[in-house]
Amino acid sequence: MDRFARQRLVPGWDQDRLGRSRVIVCGIGALGNEVARLLALAGVGHLLLCDPDVVAESNLSRTPLFRPADVGRPKAEAAVPELLALNPGIRVAPRTAALAEGVGLAELRDADLVVSCLDSVAARVQLASRCNQVGVDLLDGGTNAWGGEVRYYRTGEDCYGCALTPGRRAVEDDPWSCGAAARTTVAGATAPVSALIGSWMAATAVRLLLLLETEPGILRVDAAGRQAGPVSVRRDPDCPLHRRIPPGAVQRVALTHRATVAELLAATAPGETVLAWAPVRIPGQRAADATAGSTKLADAPPQARLADVAVAPREILPVIGRGPDGARTVRYLELSGEEEEASR
Ligand SMILES: [Zn+2]
Repeated sequence: MDRFARQRLVPGWDQDRLGRSRVIVCGIGALGNEVARLLALAGVGHLLLCDPDVVAESNLSRTPLFRPADVGRPKAEAAVPELLALNPGIRVAPRTAALAEGVGLAELRDADLVVSCLDSVAARVQLASRCNQVGVDLLDGGTNAWGGEVRYYRTGEDCYGCALTPGRRAVEDDPWSCGAAARTTVAGATAPVSALIGSWMAATAVRLLLLLETEPGILRVDAAGRQAGPVSVRRDPDCPLHRRIPPGAVQRVALTHRATVAELLAATAPGETVLAWAPVRIPGQRAADATAGSTKLADAPPQARLADVAVAPREILPVIGRGPDGARTVRYLELSGEEEEASR
Protein backbone atom coordinates (compact mmCIF):
# COMPACT_ATOMS: atom_id res chain seq x y z
CA MET A 1 0.00 0.00 0.00
CA ASP A 2 1.55 3.28 -1.02
CA ARG A 3 1.00 6.68 0.55
CA PHE A 4 -1.80 7.55 -1.86
CA ALA A 5 -3.61 4.17 -1.91
CA ARG A 6 -6.79 5.50 -0.33
CA GLN A 7 -7.17 8.57 -2.51
CA ARG A 8 -6.57 6.51 -5.66
CA LEU A 9 -9.91 4.86 -4.83
CA VAL A 10 -11.74 8.16 -5.41
CA PRO A 11 -13.54 8.04 -8.79
CA GLY A 12 -11.76 10.23 -11.35
CA TRP A 13 -8.56 10.46 -9.25
CA ASP A 14 -5.27 10.64 -11.18
CA GLN A 15 -2.30 10.70 -8.79
CA ASP A 16 0.23 11.06 -11.63
CA ARG A 17 -1.57 14.15 -12.90
CA LEU A 18 -1.46 15.71 -9.41
CA GLY A 19 2.22 14.80 -9.14
CA ARG A 20 2.96 16.68 -12.38
CA SER A 21 0.80 19.70 -11.43
CA ARG A 22 2.23 23.13 -10.71
CA VAL A 23 0.23 25.35 -8.37
CA ILE A 24 1.06 28.93 -7.45
CA VAL A 25 -0.23 29.96 -4.02
CA CYS A 26 -0.27 33.75 -3.54
CA GLY A 27 -0.37 34.69 0.14
CA ILE A 28 0.89 32.29 2.85
CA GLY A 29 -1.19 33.54 5.77
CA ALA A 30 -3.83 31.42 7.47
CA LEU A 31 -5.63 30.44 4.25
CA GLY A 32 -2.41 29.91 2.31
CA ASN A 33 -1.12 27.66 5.10
CA GLU A 34 -4.22 25.48 4.90
CA VAL A 35 -4.31 25.33 1.10
CA ALA A 36 -0.58 24.57 0.75
CA ARG A 37 -0.73 21.96 3.54
CA LEU A 38 -3.64 20.10 1.94
CA LEU A 39 -2.21 20.26 -1.60
CA ALA A 40 1.10 18.88 -0.28
CA LEU A 41 -0.69 16.03 1.50
CA ALA A 42 -2.69 15.28 -1.66
CA GLY A 43 0.57 14.96 -3.59
CA VAL A 44 0.49 18.05 -5.80
CA GLY A 45 4.04 17.87 -7.11
CA HIS A 46 5.13 21.50 -7.50
CA LEU A 47 4.12 24.34 -5.20
CA LEU A 48 5.28 27.92 -5.66
CA LEU A 49 4.56 30.04 -2.58
CA CYS A 50 4.62 33.84 -2.82
CA ASP A 51 4.37 36.19 0.16
CA PRO A 52 6.45 39.28 1.02
CA ASP A 53 5.57 39.26 4.74
CA VAL A 54 7.27 37.72 7.74
CA VAL A 55 5.66 35.48 10.36
CA ALA A 56 4.19 37.43 13.29
CA GLU A 57 3.35 36.08 16.73
CA SER A 58 -0.35 36.77 16.03
CA ASN A 59 -0.27 34.46 12.98
CA LEU A 60 0.54 31.38 15.08
CA SER A 61 -3.04 30.79 16.23
CA ARG A 62 -4.11 29.85 12.67
CA THR A 63 -1.04 28.80 10.69
CA PRO A 64 -0.37 25.06 11.02
CA LEU A 65 2.91 25.31 9.04
CA PHE A 66 4.55 27.87 11.33
CA ARG A 67 6.22 27.38 14.74
CA PRO A 68 7.15 29.99 17.39
CA ALA A 69 10.77 29.84 16.15
CA ASP A 70 9.56 31.04 12.73
CA VAL A 71 8.49 34.49 14.04
CA GLY A 72 10.38 37.08 11.97
CA ARG A 73 11.15 34.65 9.11
CA PRO A 74 9.60 35.20 5.65
CA LYS A 75 6.31 33.29 5.53
CA ALA A 76 7.02 31.69 2.15
CA GLU A 77 10.34 30.29 3.39
CA ALA A 78 9.05 29.24 6.82
CA ALA A 79 6.35 27.09 5.18
CA VAL A 80 8.80 25.01 3.10
CA PRO A 81 10.32 22.63 5.70
CA GLU A 82 6.93 21.72 7.16
CA LEU A 83 5.46 21.00 3.71
CA LEU A 84 8.44 18.80 2.82
CA ALA A 85 8.11 17.02 6.19
CA LEU A 86 4.45 16.27 5.38
CA ASN A 87 5.33 15.00 1.89
CA PRO A 88 9.02 14.61 0.98
CA GLY A 89 8.05 13.71 -2.58
CA ILE A 90 7.07 17.24 -3.66
CA ARG A 91 9.01 20.36 -4.61
CA VAL A 92 8.32 23.71 -2.98
CA ALA A 93 9.73 27.02 -4.21
CA PRO A 94 9.41 30.10 -1.96
CA ARG A 95 9.21 33.68 -3.28
CA THR A 96 9.57 36.38 -0.64
CA ALA A 97 8.64 39.37 -2.82
CA ALA A 98 5.31 41.10 -3.43
CA LEU A 99 3.11 39.55 -6.10
CA ALA A 100 4.13 41.57 -9.17
CA GLU A 101 7.82 41.22 -8.23
CA GLY A 102 7.63 37.61 -7.10
CA VAL A 103 5.74 35.75 -9.82
CA GLY A 104 6.09 36.57 -13.51
CA LEU A 105 3.22 36.59 -15.99
CA ALA A 106 4.67 33.62 -17.90
CA GLU A 107 4.74 31.64 -14.64
CA LEU A 108 1.07 32.46 -14.03
CA ARG A 109 0.24 31.52 -17.64
CA ASP A 110 2.01 28.15 -17.43
CA ALA A 111 0.77 27.10 -13.97
CA ASP A 112 -1.88 24.40 -13.74
CA LEU A 113 -3.67 26.53 -11.14
CA VAL A 114 -3.27 29.93 -9.50
CA VAL A 115 -4.68 30.21 -5.98
CA SER A 116 -5.22 33.55 -4.24
CA CYS A 117 -5.00 33.47 -0.45
CA LEU A 118 -4.32 37.21 -0.29
CA ASP A 119 -5.53 39.47 2.49
CA SER A 120 -6.34 42.73 0.75
CA VAL A 121 -8.65 44.00 -1.98
CA ALA A 122 -5.74 45.76 -3.68
CA ALA A 123 -3.64 42.60 -3.94
CA ARG A 124 -6.63 40.58 -5.18
CA VAL A 125 -7.40 43.19 -7.85
CA GLN A 126 -3.76 43.08 -8.97
CA LEU A 127 -3.70 39.27 -9.16
CA ALA A 128 -7.06 39.15 -10.97
CA SER A 129 -5.73 41.63 -13.51
CA ARG A 130 -2.50 39.68 -14.03
CA CYS A 131 -4.39 36.40 -14.48
CA ASN A 132 -6.68 38.07 -17.02
CA GLN A 133 -3.62 39.46 -18.87
CA VAL A 134 -2.43 35.93 -19.63
CA GLY A 135 -5.83 34.22 -19.73
CA VAL A 136 -5.66 31.86 -16.73
CA ASP A 137 -8.31 30.79 -14.24
CA LEU A 138 -8.07 31.99 -10.64
CA LEU A 139 -9.23 30.31 -7.44
CA ASP A 140 -9.63 32.92 -4.71
CA GLY A 141 -10.81 32.79 -1.12
CA GLY A 142 -11.35 35.02 1.88
CA THR A 143 -12.61 34.67 5.44
CA ASN A 144 -14.71 36.71 7.83
CA ALA A 145 -15.51 36.06 11.51
CA TRP A 146 -17.59 32.88 10.99
CA GLY A 147 -17.29 32.06 7.31
CA GLY A 148 -16.08 33.39 4.05
CA GLU A 149 -16.10 32.89 0.32
CA VAL A 150 -14.57 30.49 -2.19
CA ARG A 151 -14.43 32.10 -5.63
CA TYR A 152 -13.53 30.28 -8.81
CA TYR A 153 -13.10 32.66 -11.76
CA ARG A 154 -12.87 31.11 -15.19
CA THR A 155 -10.87 33.16 -17.65
CA GLY A 156 -12.97 35.27 -20.01
CA GLU A 157 -15.91 35.33 -17.59
CA ASP A 158 -16.52 37.54 -14.55
CA CYS A 159 -13.51 38.28 -12.34
CA TYR A 160 -12.88 39.49 -8.80
CA GLY A 161 -13.04 43.10 -9.99
CA CYS A 162 -16.46 42.70 -11.65
CA ALA A 163 -18.16 42.56 -8.24
CA LEU A 164 -16.44 45.74 -7.00
CA THR A 165 -17.47 49.35 -7.52
CA PRO A 166 -14.90 51.48 -9.40
CA GLY A 167 -13.93 53.06 -6.07
CA ARG A 168 -13.31 49.67 -4.46
CA ARG A 169 -11.25 48.50 -7.45
CA ALA A 170 -9.01 51.52 -6.98
CA VAL A 171 -8.75 51.14 -3.21
CA GLU A 172 -5.21 51.54 -1.95
CA ASP A 173 -5.33 48.72 0.54
CA ASP A 174 -8.14 47.24 2.55
CA PRO A 175 -7.43 44.04 4.43
CA TRP A 176 -10.22 41.50 4.28
CA SER A 177 -9.20 39.80 7.49
CA CYS A 178 -5.71 39.36 8.88
CA GLY A 179 -4.15 42.77 8.33
CA ALA A 180 -0.93 43.88 9.94
CA ALA A 181 -0.92 46.52 12.66
CA ALA A 182 -0.13 49.38 10.27
CA ARG A 183 -3.23 48.72 8.18
CA THR A 184 -6.48 50.47 8.74
CA THR A 185 -8.85 47.70 9.82
CA VAL A 186 -8.04 44.33 11.34
CA ALA A 187 -10.94 41.89 11.54
CA GLY A 188 -11.20 38.87 13.80
CA ALA A 189 -9.94 35.58 12.44
CA THR A 190 -9.76 32.04 13.81
CA ALA A 191 -8.17 28.72 12.88
CA PRO A 192 -11.45 26.79 12.53
CA VAL A 193 -12.77 29.30 9.98
CA SER A 194 -9.56 29.54 7.95
CA ALA A 195 -9.42 25.72 7.96
CA LEU A 196 -13.05 25.62 6.79
CA ILE A 197 -12.54 27.98 3.86
CA GLY A 198 -9.02 26.73 3.10
CA SER A 199 -10.27 23.13 2.95
CA TRP A 200 -13.06 24.07 0.58
CA MET A 201 -10.53 25.91 -1.59
CA ALA A 202 -8.15 22.93 -1.57
CA ALA A 203 -10.96 20.50 -2.48
CA THR A 204 -11.90 22.79 -5.37
CA ALA A 205 -8.24 23.09 -6.39
CA VAL A 206 -7.81 19.30 -6.52
CA ARG A 207 -10.99 18.92 -8.58
CA LEU A 208 -9.73 21.55 -11.03
CA LEU A 209 -6.32 19.85 -11.29
CA LEU A 210 -8.04 16.50 -11.92
CA LEU A 211 -10.22 18.16 -14.61
CA LEU A 212 -13.35 17.11 -12.72
CA GLU A 213 -16.45 19.18 -13.42
CA THR A 214 -16.37 22.36 -11.33
CA GLU A 215 -18.81 25.23 -11.66
CA PRO A 216 -17.28 28.71 -11.69
CA GLY A 217 -18.65 31.38 -9.38
CA ILE A 218 -18.72 32.44 -5.77
CA LEU A 219 -19.68 30.17 -2.89
CA ARG A 220 -20.50 31.89 0.40
CA VAL A 221 -20.02 29.82 3.55
CA ASP A 222 -21.64 30.87 6.85
CA ALA A 223 -20.77 28.66 9.81
CA ALA A 224 -22.86 30.74 12.24
CA GLY A 225 -26.00 30.42 10.12
CA ARG A 226 -25.06 26.85 9.09
CA GLN A 227 -25.44 27.71 5.42
CA ALA A 228 -23.42 27.58 2.24
CA GLY A 229 -24.63 28.70 -1.15
CA PRO A 230 -23.75 30.39 -4.42
CA VAL A 231 -23.69 34.17 -4.90
CA SER A 232 -24.48 35.40 -8.39
CA VAL A 233 -22.09 37.85 -10.05
CA ARG A 234 -22.25 39.10 -13.63
CA ARG A 235 -19.38 40.16 -15.82
CA ASP A 236 -19.19 43.97 -15.56
CA PRO A 237 -18.58 45.35 -19.07
CA ASP A 238 -16.87 48.37 -17.46
CA CYS A 239 -14.50 46.26 -15.34
CA PRO A 240 -11.03 47.40 -16.46
CA LEU A 241 -9.25 44.21 -15.39
CA HIS A 242 -9.88 42.22 -18.59
CA ARG A 243 -7.07 43.51 -20.80
CA ARG A 244 -5.50 40.42 -22.35
CA ILE A 245 -1.95 40.46 -23.70
CA PRO A 246 -2.26 39.14 -27.28
CA PRO A 247 -0.23 35.88 -27.22
CA GLY A 248 1.07 36.66 -30.73
CA ALA A 249 2.64 39.92 -29.48
CA VAL A 250 4.86 38.11 -26.95
CA GLN A 251 8.45 37.33 -27.91
CA ARG A 252 10.81 35.16 -25.78
CA VAL A 253 14.24 36.59 -25.04
CA ALA A 254 17.20 34.42 -23.98
CA LEU A 255 17.64 36.40 -20.76
CA THR A 256 16.45 35.59 -17.25
CA HIS A 257 15.60 38.03 -14.46
CA ARG A 258 19.26 37.68 -13.40
CA ALA A 259 20.31 39.59 -16.54
CA THR A 260 21.17 43.27 -16.24
CA VAL A 261 18.95 46.17 -17.28
CA ALA A 262 21.48 47.02 -20.01
CA GLU A 263 21.33 43.48 -21.43
CA LEU A 264 17.56 43.64 -21.72
CA LEU A 265 17.55 47.14 -23.22
CA ALA A 266 20.09 45.90 -25.81
CA ALA A 267 17.40 43.47 -26.99
CA THR A 268 15.18 46.39 -28.07
CA ALA A 269 15.34 48.76 -31.02
CA PRO A 270 16.31 52.45 -30.77
CA GLY A 271 13.30 54.51 -29.71
CA GLU A 272 11.60 51.62 -27.90
CA THR A 273 10.76 51.92 -24.19
CA VAL A 274 10.64 48.88 -21.90
CA LEU A 275 8.20 49.22 -19.02
CA ALA A 276 7.92 47.29 -15.75
CA TRP A 277 4.60 46.54 -14.08
CA ALA A 278 5.72 48.21 -10.85
CA PRO A 279 7.92 51.27 -10.27
CA VAL A 280 11.51 50.27 -10.89
CA ARG A 281 13.66 50.24 -7.81
CA ILE A 282 17.23 51.29 -7.42
CA PRO A 283 18.90 48.65 -5.25
CA GLY A 284 19.26 49.89 -1.70
CA GLN A 285 16.83 52.79 -2.12
CA ARG A 286 13.08 53.20 -1.85
CA ALA A 287 11.48 53.11 -5.29
CA ALA A 288 9.68 56.43 -4.90
CA ASP A 289 12.80 58.26 -3.70
CA ALA A 290 15.05 56.88 -6.40
CA THR A 291 13.06 56.88 -9.61
CA ALA A 292 10.04 59.02 -8.67
CA GLY A 293 7.82 56.02 -9.29
CA SER A 294 8.96 55.57 -12.89
CA THR A 295 8.13 52.23 -14.51
CA LYS A 296 10.66 52.80 -17.32
CA LEU A 297 13.47 50.28 -17.07
CA ALA A 298 15.78 52.86 -18.64
CA ASP A 299 15.48 54.82 -15.37
CA ALA A 300 17.13 51.98 -13.43
CA PRO A 301 20.94 51.63 -13.20
CA PRO A 302 22.11 49.81 -16.37
CA GLN A 303 24.28 47.35 -14.47
CA ALA A 304 21.56 46.42 -11.94
CA ARG A 305 20.05 42.98 -12.30
CA LEU A 306 16.39 42.90 -13.34
CA ALA A 307 15.61 40.89 -10.18
CA ASP A 308 17.03 43.71 -8.06
CA VAL A 309 14.91 46.43 -9.71
CA ALA A 310 11.66 44.56 -8.93
CA VAL A 311 11.22 42.50 -12.13
CA ALA A 312 9.76 39.05 -11.44
CA PRO A 313 11.15 35.75 -12.76
CA ARG A 314 9.72 34.91 -16.20
CA GLU A 315 8.03 38.30 -16.38
CA ILE A 316 6.43 39.51 -19.62
CA LEU A 317 7.33 43.19 -20.10
CA PRO A 318 5.62 45.67 -22.44
CA VAL A 319 7.79 47.44 -25.01
CA ILE A 320 6.37 50.69 -26.37
CA GLY A 321 7.47 51.92 -29.77
CA ARG A 322 6.36 53.96 -32.79
CA GLY A 323 5.21 52.49 -36.07
CA PRO A 324 6.21 53.93 -39.46
CA ASP A 325 3.11 56.15 -39.36
CA GLY A 326 4.06 57.48 -35.92
CA ALA A 327 1.34 55.50 -34.16
CA ARG A 328 2.12 53.91 -30.81
CA THR A 329 2.96 50.20 -30.95
CA VAL A 330 3.11 47.69 -28.09
CA ARG A 331 4.97 44.40 -28.11
CA TYR A 332 6.01 42.21 -25.21
CA LEU A 333 9.26 40.52 -24.16
CA GLU A 334 9.07 37.32 -22.11
CA LEU A 335 12.03 36.54 -19.85
CA SER A 336 13.29 32.96 -19.90
CA GLY A 337 13.18 30.75 -16.81
CA GLU A 338 16.18 29.49 -14.89
CA GLU A 339 16.64 25.83 -14.10
CA GLU A 340 13.72 24.90 -11.93
CA GLU A 341 14.29 26.10 -8.42
CA ALA A 342 15.39 23.27 -6.21
CA SER A 343 13.21 22.41 -3.28
CA ARG A 344 14.71 23.30 0.02
ZN1 LIG B 1 -13.82 41.84 -14.12
